[in-house]
Amino acid sequence: MDGQTLAESLSKQELAERILQAEQRIDCMETTLAAVADEIDGVSLSSRCSKCEESLLLVKEGMLYCPYCGDGHSL
Ligand SMILES: [Zn+2]
Repeated sequence: MDGQTLAESLSKQELAERILQAEQRIDCMETTLAAVADEIDGVSLSSRCSKCEESLLLVKEGMLYCPYCGDGHSL
């Protein structure tokens, strides 16, 4: 290990392109996720989990639920 991270070995141009591609993938995923949630009766998406910040909260049957850490409470 020379201690150099991937980010340090890339040029600014390469980094900018990677960020752009990542943002496009996120936009694509968000659109798909929202459409999938719409397809499932009684399930919708809420804000990001304030406990773990690793997932959006799911709203199901009047309950908020985090699929990552399992945190949840009623609405
Ligand atoms: Zn969570």
